[in-house]
Amino acid sequence: MAHDKKKIEELIDGTIDWETQHRMLSEPKDEERFQAYLEILQERVPWDDRILLPYQYHLYIVQKKDTGERVIKCDCGHEFCDYRDNWKLHARIYVRDTEEALSEIYPKLMAPDPNWQVYREYYCPGCGTLLEVEAPTPWYPVIHNWEPDIETFYKEWLKVPLP
Ligand SMILES: [Zn+2]
Repeated sequence: MAHDKKKIEELIDGTIDWETQHRMLSEPKDEERFQAYLEILQERVPWDDRILLPYQYHLYIVQKKDTGERVIKCDCGHEFCDYRDNWKLHARIYVRDTEEALSEIYPKLMAPDPNWQVYREYYCPGCGTLLEVEAPTPWYPVIHNWEPDIETFYKEWLKVPLP
């Protein structure tokens, strides 16, 4: 059953009533729902490169209008990199690796030992939004969240041609 766009918007915004949400999440997903979801996201961003896939909060994989490249783009319009690269390596990074920096987040004497755990904060260079925080051991490489297989997703799951 196709849901009207208003219900999908309410689902995105978290304003939907519990009963409708429960029904929408538990029934088999119709293909149009993802299309409607993309349409809503597209209407909400200020640029018109086509959104292929939401990547994570604030970030999208888009197909650039002029060159056809697929890049990771912030909702502010800042472009990070090719969608297969790790966007975090193109972000502004603030590493909290001292007791002083960690104590800005934790109550006194409750912060982790910076020899064992640090905080890496990733900010968008365009709008300054904090996009993600990692709390790894200091020597751990920058984590690449995921690399979607867009071709397979469109072909096998959405069953619509890639734009
Ligand atoms: Zn941004």
